[in-house]
Amino acid sequence: MGSILIKHILLEGQPRNVLIEGKRFKSLDAADGAAAETVLDGSGMALLPGLYNTHTHSAMTLLRGYGDDTSLEQWLDDYIWPVESRLTAGQLQRGYMLATREMARTGTVFFNDMYFDLDTATDVVADSGLRATLGWVMLDGHPLSNRMEVMERIKAWRDPTGGRIQLAMAPHAIYTVARDEIVRMVRFARENGLRIHTHLAETRTEVANCVRDHGMRPVAYLDSLGVLGPDVVLAHCVQVNDAEADLLAERGVTISHCPCSNMKLGSGIFPYERLIKAGCRITLGTDGASSSNNLDLREAMKFAALLAKVGGDPQLLPASQVFDWATRCGAEAFGIDAGTIAEGKLADCLLVDLSDVKMQPCHNLISNFVYSADSSCIAGVLCDGQILYQR
Ligand SMILES: [Zn+2]
Repeated sequence: MGSILIKHILLEGQPRNVLIEGKRFKSLDAADGAAAETVLDGSGMALLPGLYNTHTHSAMTLLRGYGDDTSLEQWLDDYIWPVESRLTAGQLQRGYMLATREMARTGTVFFNDMYFDLDTATDVVADSGLRATLGWVMLDGHPLSNRMEVMERIKAWRDPTGGRIQLAMAPHAIYTVARDEIVRMVRFARENGLRIHTHLAETRTEVANCVRDHGMRPVAYLDSLGVLGPDVVLAHCVQVNDAEADLLAERGVTISHCPCSNMKLGSGIFPYERLIKAGCRITLGTDGASSSNNLDLREAMKFAALLAKVGGDPQLLPASQVFDWATRCGAEAFGIDAGTIAEGKLADCLLVDLSDVKMQPCHNLISNFVYSADSSCIAGVLCDGQILYQR
């Protein structure tokens, strides 16, 4: 069992020696002379939890900057889907590698993914040291997403990482997967203990088409199919009214708010007050690098906070709350015993360089990290007691 001692690092305002044994924090106040296989000098740095990205399409790093400045519908129809239908395993591997490197470099220790080729994704995540929930995106008629084949691949899948990877079923959206297919996927997921990951209520067009085709709005439609429950992660939920917010809270779903993608695609303003008032569980995602245009969850925190305030109330979504979404709430939503720095918790954490010009002066560490920092302020990233990145 490996051990890491981080010496003289600032934790809750005090310099501490933090000892990690195996995958977990052993002591947050170890003696100066404590022994460990690896010793890191944390002087001039602060220790924060790692970041949990609850919605992305990681290998879309391949399509970064492709089809920018278009509507969601035009972006998908004219740019993304024609290219994605021709992606090879080798290309996907490079896309996943680029994504995991970017996330590790920018402080993300976990991502909830929705993309193609489970086996390639598993290999890359295993090598990267990150955590992930991998969902094979399902779209009716797509050459890379045959439901029967995907189900067979899921049944044959084994986690090579000792618990860093879990699986999800990922029907893309209510407008790309037929009713019966959604029902079959959700049944399969629940029979096999998988989470369910989909997009919902992203744009006004989606709502209008759902009312036209099914006689009800997206939240009611998915609920009528028996989908909504605590094992479900819904990306976006931008176009949600009061009654729908109440239903999402009642069903215990996790919402992944992706502010950069919503703003770039012109999808609308996330109804922060409505969802919070209803008691919804909210977490934070980047969405894919083709709509966000990076996988930097720290940046998504800043945009989420600013977007909540843009209507006129600067007290909405303070830095501490959006930081909680990106850390503790994200980990909890996926049953990961991490997201805070505490003895016994899984050792997922960031070393933040307080000497960086963007971190000075430091009246409030979390405010600086959310509003002022960029990823260059992150000097080290650990996940599951292993060093993912060190500057
Ligand atoms: Zn998405």
